[in-house]
Amino acid sequence: MGAMKEFLNSLLLKELFQGLVVTGRYMFARKITIQYPEEKTPQSNRFRGLHALRRYPNGEERCIACKLCEAVCPALAITIESGERDDGSRRTTRYDIDLTKCIFCGYCEEACPVDAIVLTREFEYHGEVRGDLYYTKQMLLAVGERNEAQIAKDREQDAPYR
Ligand code: SF4
Ligand code: SF4
Repeated sequence: MGAMKEFLNSLLLKELFQGLVVTGRYMFARKITIQYPEEKTPQSNRFRGLHALRRYPNGEERCIACKLCEAVCPALAITIESGERDDGSRRTTRYDIDLTKCIFCGYCEEACPVDAIVLTREFEYHGEVRGDLYYTKQMLLAVGERNEAQIAKDREQDAPYR
């Protein structure tokens, strides 16, 4: 009996029509395809993209070279060297992130006591050779400068959950 039913289903192209019903249903459904790069998907204010080092509004670097981010990084992607300035404050003399090692976990951002290292919403970057993805302190500060308005807005939105 089972074999006969299977034969009839096959003869009447039952599975083909079932497939066409599904195709027909999706033909009139709302389209979810995004035409990237002209269209973008929404991003969370906690999006973990390219890293940035931030400054205070007076231009002073936030980072105090405590090295907590370097210690917490599971990928050993951060390298920091520090020194004392003439005014007695401690600042980094070197702050590098090797993005080929980074796993974008965000632990560095979580560990930072002064909100200096953050992960921005920037994700459209690339490297053509390995060295292109080795971000130095100056590069990270530059990312911070061009994203500061968005970073500040995102942090404000996140404040109740911190
Ligand atoms: S996001 Fe994670 S892996 Fe990348 S530098 Fe920060 S702590 Fe390290
Ligand atoms: S970025 Fe933050 S956690 Fe890392 S060394 Fe600077 S102050 Fe410390």
